[in-house]
Amino acid sequence: MILFIHRKDLRTHDLPALDAIFASGLPSLHILVLDPFLLRNGRGREHSGRNFLAHAGRLQRLYTKHGRRLHVLYGEPAAVVSRIADAHPIREIVWHEDHTPYALTRDRELRQLAAERGIPATAYDEAALADLRDFVRWSGREDPYKVFTPFYKRWSAYVTERFKPASTRSVAELETAELHSDVRDGFRLPPELGAQLQHDDPADSGDEPDPMQALESFLDERLAGYADGRDRFAREDTSRISRHLNVGALSIREVYERLMEAPIGIEPWLRQLAWRDFYLYQSRLDPDFFRYEQVFDLSPLGDTHFRAWAEGRTGIPIIDAAMTELNETGWMPNRLRMITAMFLTKNLGCPFPYGERYFRYKLSDYDNVLNRGGWLWCASLGFDAAPYFRVMNPATQSETHDPSGAYIRRWLPHLAGRSDKEIHKPLPEAIVDLKASRAQAIETYKLILKSE
Ligand code: FAD
Repeated sequence: MILFIHRKDLRTHDLPALDAIFASGLPSLHILVLDPFLLRNGRGREHSGRNFLAHAGRLQRLYTKHGRRLHVLYGEPAAVVSRIADAHPIREIVWHEDHTPYALTRDRELRQLAAERGIPATAYDEAALADLRDFVRWSGREDPYKVFTPFYKRWSAYVTERFKPASTRSVAELETAELHSDVRDGFRLPPELGAQLQHDDPADSGDEPDPMQALESFLDERLAGYADGRDRFAREDTSRISRHLNVGALSIREVYERLMEAPIGIEPWLRQLAWRDFYLYQSRLDPDFFRYEQVFDLSPLGDTHFRAWAEGRTGIPIIDAAMTELNETGWMPNRLRMITAMFLTKNLGCPFPYGERYFRYKLSDYDNVLNRGGWLWCASLGFDAAPYFRVMNPATQSETHDPSGAYIRRWLPHLAGRSDKEIHKPLPEAIVDLKASRAQAIETYKLILKSE
């Protein structure tokens, strides 16, 4: 029997790890482990946790629809696997790998446990559109690409030449095994998590996520206007597939295949998919990616205004509107993520990990690599980051990308009576002066960047 551990791959087809099962001809046991460490501090009730749990419930229902079994368990991953290996004749363990420090440590433990029992353990790489290990060899570079544009050129050539199509093989073709009742009982979900999976949680809107429909409606209706519309945050011109993509409910290969069928206007959106790969690439090849806060001295920064930012009480209308949308819905458009993150790290002089951590709980589409990549970019750290002297002015950004102030009116109805011109301007009680704090930020970041 082969043990397949679902991770950020919450779908039933195009799962490279299944190839090992098909090749073996053995039955397989499929599990998804809800890890208390990743759900700590009430994360299961925040937008990011709820998105994951909604997709986990959807996956379990998909398995059932195919007449197959997925066992969702709650516990420390190594303990779960150890008990399973005690109760079942496991011949191999397979999963899709993740490269965050926590995931690397967790998987090292799993490998060790498997090795002690003489069970082969194989991790497959599937998160990026380009096969990143192969890309690194193929591109023939000793040092990683540190600038997006040359990366993008080479990446485009690679994807055109070596793209491996999505596999249509599915768990529906497998014989999935039942789990020994002792194991099931030992790692039962706490009732509130079970309710979220079943959709009977009162905090859940009850909407079944439909990843493919989100992708198709974007490609059919909005792809052509994407380049012009993507920064107009009052509208919904982007795909909003991120919350499906990041939990693997959509396969990135399938997204690419569907995109290639589109008649026109492919490039601007493909470029964004390349940014996703660029951050995944950086997370693997930049040894500092997960530790920039240790490499640079961030001590000239402080957290005085962090709460006001998080709660949308800064007195800068576009910032407060964006944070209100985030807190209420789990969503914030990309340009507003840039504006709010730059405002926190530069104008308010707060260390980027504060904002990164806040987004980790609040974003439905939270992804450990893309979120960190975005925060590093705004804080002028990491590969191809915003230069330290680039500090977006939130009021000007708001005026440029949403001249009528429709977005602010939507999220801050108490400001709706202001004129189109006035609505973007800081309120008299704003917690910082934009001009003075910008000048201060440039001086501080010059110092920080020298501290390496
Ligand atoms: P579209 O515009 O339709 O783009 C399609 C896909 O391309 C996205 O789903 C995403 O996978 C990728 N993409 C688009 N823009 C970017 C970008 N700037 N960087 C990397 N990939 C991109 N994205 C997340 O998915 N999860 C996060 O946790 C996350 N945190 C961020 C934090 C900050 C501070 C910033 C500035 C950006 C962050 N992003 C994050 C990137 C970006 O904002 C989102 O990917 C995008 O808004 C998702 O919307 P969409 O699916 O409609 O994207």
